Amino acid sequence: MVTRRNFLHQTALGSVAAAMGGTALTACTEAATESPEAIEAPVRPLAISTWDFGAKANEAAWKILNSGGNALDAVEQGVMVIEADEKNTSVGIGGAPDRDGRVTLDACIMAPDGSCGSVCALEHIVHPISVARRVMEKTPHVILVGEGALEFALAQGFKKENLLTEESKAAWEKWKKTSKYEPKINVEMHDTIGMLTIDNKGDIAGACTTSGLAYKMRGRVGDSPIIGAGLYVDNEVGGAAATGLGEAVIRAVGSFLVVELMRQGRSPQEACEEAVARVIKKYKDFKDIQVGFIAVNKLGQIGAYSIQEGFNYAVFAGGNNQVKDAMSFIK
Ligand code: ASP
Repeated sequence: MVTRRNFLHQTALGSVAAAMGGTALTACTEAATESPEAIEAPVRPLAISTWDFGAKANEAAWKILNSGGNALDAVEQGVMVIEADEKNTSVGIGGAPDRDGRVTLDACIMAPDGSCGSVCALEHIVHPISVARRVMEKTPHVILVGEGALEFALAQGFKKENLLTEESKAAWEKWKKTSKYEPKINVEMHDTIGMLTIDNKGDIAGACTTSGLAYKMRGRVGDSPIIGAGLYVDNEVGGAAATGLGEAVIRAVGSFLVVELMRQGRSPQEACEEAVARVIKKYKDFKDIQVGFIAVNKLGQIGAYSIQEGFNYAVFAGGNNQVKDAMSFIK
């Protein structure tokens, strides 16, 4: 049981209290009076991922979390399941290529201590998330792109592979007949796995990995590997991840915004809703695009919200893995 008093001892006092909103702010004030009254125990471990396919990622993450593993290993292993799934056309192998037929992958990862790593437009490597983790752990840098990222991955022992499957090649060839670039709402043009995990110690990690917009211009990078846009974790507060049209997410620095709003006292749900409102404000054609956010705070409270209907997410907590529909701005 967590008491108001020891909860505050376990966390970084001021900022976490602010992050938890009214309840924790009250807790903070009352802790000074040494009230032994209990507050809601934090939910942990926990894994939350974008989209229904996130349920498979959650399962892998849960195995690690439930056996006492850490949030960072869990989040990496979780999203790797989707990267390796050839049938998933928006992440890893089998992901839709750019308009020249090259599969270029974007990914980033954040650890509880604030360290982070990212790769952009990485070709030929099935697990960009693991390369991003190596960037974080083995280099003094945060982001490696294109050829440099590939050279680094190969030097680290990753295997060069063909990521364009028969299916994704056939779909690209079909697309080439019209070559029409049309971001569509919630369909195969884009979808990303963003994942947040909380381990038994209460530490939070996040990962985000994607093949980006289908048939994008060569060299295009979306929000997913951009720390603060596609993903942000602050271990004192919580984490957030985004999916949808990266250009719109970047304008609002969406995931960082969600986390900062939680720091200021919003619940994860309120923070996601405010971030979507901000995206909409900055993107006049918002009716034609999709953007969705997921968020979790230090207590394991979650939030999710999107512009359009149809965004869903998967949460694994208390031994149950559930897919849920997010609420949306446009009903
Ligand atoms: N956010 C990704 C990007 O813009 C794609 C997606 O989530 O659908 O590259």
